Amino acid sequence: MNLRCMYCQTMFAIGREEMIVALQTMDAENLSHYDAHCPKCRRANRVERKKLELANPNWQETLKEMGKEAAKAEKAEAVENKEDKAASSKKPAAKAKEK
Ligand SMILES: [Zn+2]
Repeated sequence: MNLRCMYCQTMFAIGREEMIVALQTMDAENLSHYDAHCPKCRRANRVERKKLELANPNWQETLKEMGKEAAKAEKAEAVENKEDKAASSKKPAAKAKEK
């Protein structure tokens, strides 16, 4: 997907894999946009989740194709981040899985 940096107008592309990972992260963290970082000025450009979903309608299947092991690792990471955020911003009322 081609993007244009809204700060320095540089055109850059985000690859399929990056989009899939972004969708996965947004799904896990309930986000509505992805921050694509400009390679030139390094600033975050917001990309709407819908836009990525439209570009990758079967992203969940693509994700499976990309390898279950890799997907598992990344999902675990995303969940971990989510839990970190949840813990710092608000106390989880009732933790489902207590180990
Ligand atoms: Zn830029």
